[in-house]
Amino acid sequence: MVTGGAGFLGSHLCDALLAEGWSVVVVDNLLTGRRANLVHLNNEPRFEFVEQDICKSFEVGKVDYVFHFASPASPEDYHAHGIETLQVGSLGTFHALDIARKYAAKFLVSSTSECYGDPLEHPQKETYWGHVNPIGPRSVYDEAKRFTEAVTMAYRRYHKVDTRIVRIFNTYGPRMQLNDGRVVPNFMKQALRGEDLTVYGDGRQTRSFCYVSDEIDGFMRLAKADEHLPVNIGNPNEFTILDCARMVLNVTGSKSRICYKELPKDDPKQRRPDITKARQLLGWQPKIDLESGLRLSLDYFKKAVAEETAVR
Ligand code: UDP
Repeated sequence: MVTGGAGFLGSHLCDALLAEGWSVVVVDNLLTGRRANLVHLNNEPRFEFVEQDICKSFEVGKVDYVFHFASPASPEDYHAHGIETLQVGSLGTFHALDIARKYAAKFLVSSTSECYGDPLEHPQKETYWGHVNPIGPRSVYDEAKRFTEAVTMAYRRYHKVDTRIVRIFNTYGPRMQLNDGRVVPNFMKQALRGEDLTVYGDGRQTRSFCYVSDEIDGFMRLAKADEHLPVNIGNPNEFTILDCARMVLNVTGSKSRICYKELPKDDPKQRRPDITKARQLLGWQPKIDLESGLRLSLDYFKKAVAEETAVR
């Protein structure tokens, strides 16, 4: 079972599981996920889609593995759906864990680098407890995910559920929503339309971008490992947002210019995973650098921009 399987990462995870021979049932309420991400599986007999809000108790029958990926995840989405984000991180996580407990299924939950907040340790190791504003605008996501981790560890300790926690860093690639507000889709869309690229603040804040196929490979390896403490999966190559804007201009061949907008509140100044643990434990490291990943994503974004233009 994949909760949130109609989302960007959830849908790619479904593809990877099906490719390994599993049967997959997706449970998703389509708040931020899209059926379009799964349309290629319409005729797949090993695939089933259930439209269901996991904040309410639910049942899909016996499963061997629960991948809990349901949550709004982009700043724009979790700001628009703050209460739902807190609910899915709390109630939804209880329900997903209850299913794993009932069927003695293994459990892997998607957590986030946002658990580290605006980090005072750099790069971030899994042992860092973070620097999170518990009442700021981002807290609906950050604290939901920190609570998700706490419930997951509690089900392990109290109910012996076989759990895993992946802390996901910025990931990009095909199936990202054009309008989810994240930096890569924003810049790609703006560059392809010939609009100014909107850099927030002075653009010197950093992020480390992982291409989706690398990220999913990390999830699949962790799913088969025995580690129950959090593992960072992300690309350790760090770029300023201004570097990222210039790279998008280069890859798209766009003549767009860069403009500067106000920096959102509590926007982390820097972010880079320390992936020593994933390297040692899973033999995992990303293979695709940012420029190659942007080139691999280009056709998808071109098509998405063309479709949006046609609808307008
Ligand atoms: N950002 C930007 N322009 C945009 C969208 C985002 O400069 O059009 C910045 C944002 O302020 C942040 C970084 O890019 O510093 C990454 O933002 P994103 O929303 O992709 O994810 P975050 O890492 O903040 O969750």
